[in-house]
This record gives sequence, structure tokens and C-alpha cells, in this order.
Amino acid sequence: MSKFRFFALSLALASLGWLRAADADDDAALLERARRLHETSILFDGHNDLPWRLRKDGDLRFEKFDLSKRLTTGQTDIPRLREGGLKAQFWSVYIPSEHPHPARTVIEQIDLVKRMAERYPDDFAIAYTADDVEHAVRAGKIASLIGIEGGVAIEHNLALLRAFYSLGARYMTLTHATTLDWADSATDAPRHGGLTEFGERVVREMNRLGMLVDISHVSPDTMKDALRVSVAPVIASHSSAFATARHPRNVPDDVLKLVARNGGVVMVNFYSGFIVSEYAERSSAERARLRAAHPHDPAAVEKGYEDWLKAHPMPRGTIGDVANHIDHIIKVAGIDHVGIGSDFDGITSWPEGLDDVSCYPKLTAELLRRGRSDDEVRRILGGNVLRVLRDAERTSARLRATMRPEVDQPLPEK
Ligand SMILES: [Zn+2]
Repeated sequence: MSKFRFFALSLALASLGWLRAADADDDAALLERARRLHETSILFDGHNDLPWRLRKDGDLRFEKFDLSKRLTTGQTDIPRLREGGLKAQFWSVYIPSEHPHPARTVIEQIDLVKRMAERYPDDFAIAYTADDVEHAVRAGKIASLIGIEGGVAIEHNLALLRAFYSLGARYMTLTHATTLDWADSATDAPRHGGLTEFGERVVREMNRLGMLVDISHVSPDTMKDALRVSVAPVIASHSSAFATARHPRNVPDDVLKLVARNGGVVMVNFYSGFIVSEYAERSSAERARLRAAHPHDPAAVEKGYEDWLKAHPMPRGTIGDVANHIDHIIKVAGIDHVGIGSDFDGITSWPEGLDDVSCYPKLTAELLRRGRSDDEVRRILGGNVLRVLRDAERTSARLRATMRPEVDQPLPEK
């Protein structure tokens, strides 16, 4: 090697090292800026399944897991929530579609969320309204709201819907993974082409009550029916963008446009299976194939899917993948219609680096790196969903003045 070439090569290597160091400096500076931004923002996550995880782990009394300590299991505890700069959370009170006691179980889960706030009063405050959220945040607490996951909870009865509102529920996903007798799910065979007439009454009564209509988990036809009927803004509490990763749980572009017109918000889910583009399509195709092969045997579908997952390990994806979904929703629906719905403690795989509730600032840093302004990031983190909650409250006040509650026929006496 000539002296000159050696010199040129050394110079190139040195500048590469310098560039890498400069990159690391940039990353650290962005993360620091993200953390500071969280201090003056309301990060309001649309979906966390901690209540169901505690139930499954047999800890309804907070005895096994002290949430005030940093835990080595699960994705959620108070120290990590604080580190992640989270200010408000819709805690999911989930009910599987085939559960034998839907209403009772959801009431137990609501009770669990309220007891959690009582057990850790310095860190959680139950919130029922947008004003409550802001009040809790000013008091340095994590505003804790209740969202029902699975419309099976109301047992086909509007009196139960109203009772759940009274207990504090402020959103309800119309279905979970299974089609109900009044609404089609995204991950089951459609039976109604969207919502039935009763399903439309559910949406209208939710509007009147001021409970957000949640279009996560429902089929695109159900999403469109809900958007046609709802006079209040809707949410998708934990759903990503279909055009970015073709999984039926994600929201297609035509629906994103309708959500923009409706004033609602789609809150991006972190689950690897919904965010990694090519894998989302393959895995959902396999699930659909299994459902067709075992139409009356959900256990066989689950077993087959587990085997398939073992043979086809899921790529975790990156924080950039999540940011791609956010960017796409902004491109199609606009900056006012996107939010965060991590699904922490309800997911089995998540992007590298987005391991638990302490990691939100890394996603914020990625949004800043892509050129989002502080104001835009504040809307994404929670400003949008807070606006939607407030709009739904206003709509409810207007409807309550003119509309009477709809009443179902009681069950026949035996
Ligand atoms: Zn879910």
C-alpha cells in the first residue's frame, strides 16, 4: 500500500469512527429531548392488559406482585411506568368471547383496577373524564381509566351497558377475536356484514352515555358500520395500519379516512405480529387456513397456530416499524388522528428495544429523529385521545338532553 493510500484509508476509518460516535451522541441527545418532552406531555396509552395478567397469574389481591417495586416478570409496574413517562392509561378489562360468566368477570376486573388505585394511591387515580385525567396528571398521578375489551360483556343487553358505564367503563371494543351475535370480528368468519340492528343500538347508546366506541378487533365492515352510526368520535384503542402490515387486526386506509372525518383516533399497537409487514400477512393467512380447516374447534386452531409459530419464529421488528405505522396513519388520516395503544402485558412479542412500559421515550426519540415537532409528538402521545374523550363527553351531554335510553325486553321468566 502506498503511503498516500494508507493515509487516505486511515482518514476514512477515523472519520467513520467519528461518525459513529456522533450518531451515538445524537441518539443520546434525542433520548434526553424525548424524556424532557414526556415531562410536559400527557402520554395516554389506549390499552394495557395488566389486569388480566394479574388474574391469570392468580394475584387478584396484589400479594404476589408488589407493583411499587421493579418486577422481573411482566411489562408493567410503577417504577417502569414512571421511567417511561406515562401519565394516563386505559386499563383493559378483558373478557374472552367464550368465557362462561362475561358480565361477572368484567365486574371483577373493574373491581381489580379500582382496588389497584386504592392500593397505590400515590401513583394511580381513577379517572372518568378528560378533566379527571388532567387533574390526576397535575397531582403527579397516573390517570387510570377503564376500557372493556369484548362486547360479549354486556350479554346482549343495554341495561348492562349502562351499568358498566356507571361502574366507570369509558370504552368498549365491540368484539374481541370472535364474531358475536351482533357484530363481526376481524379474526373470525363474518356473519352479519358488520353490525346488526342491535349492534347499531349499542353504538347509539354508547354515544348517549359518553362511552367511546372502540373499533379495535372488529372487521372492516363493523368499523364502517360503527363509523356510519356513531355521532361521537371513535377510537381504535390498540390497532395499527393495514397498508403497512396486512393483518386483519389492522385498520385499512379507507377506514383511516373515515376516522379522520369522524374526528377519532387510531392508537398504534406494538405487537410484532401486527407491525412487521411480511410476517403479519403470512401469520394471519395461516390462522385463517386453520379456522377454515377446524370451523367448530377453536382449541385445534390454537394448537395448530402454536405449532406453526414454533416452525416460523416471529421476527420482533423494530421501533422504526412502529414509527412507520404512525407515519402512515398521519399520511392518510392526519396528525390529529393517531395515538399510542401499546397492548403491553397482552402481547407475547414486541419490537427490539420496546420491551416494557419504561421504553416509550425511545419511540418518542424515533419520532423526533424523523423530524416531528414537539407539538406533533404531544398530540401523538396523548393529546389526540384526550381531545376525543372530551368530544365524546360533549356529544353525550347533548344527546342526554334529547334522547331517552333504549330498553331491552327482560328475559322470559322460567
Ligand atoms: Zn386486544
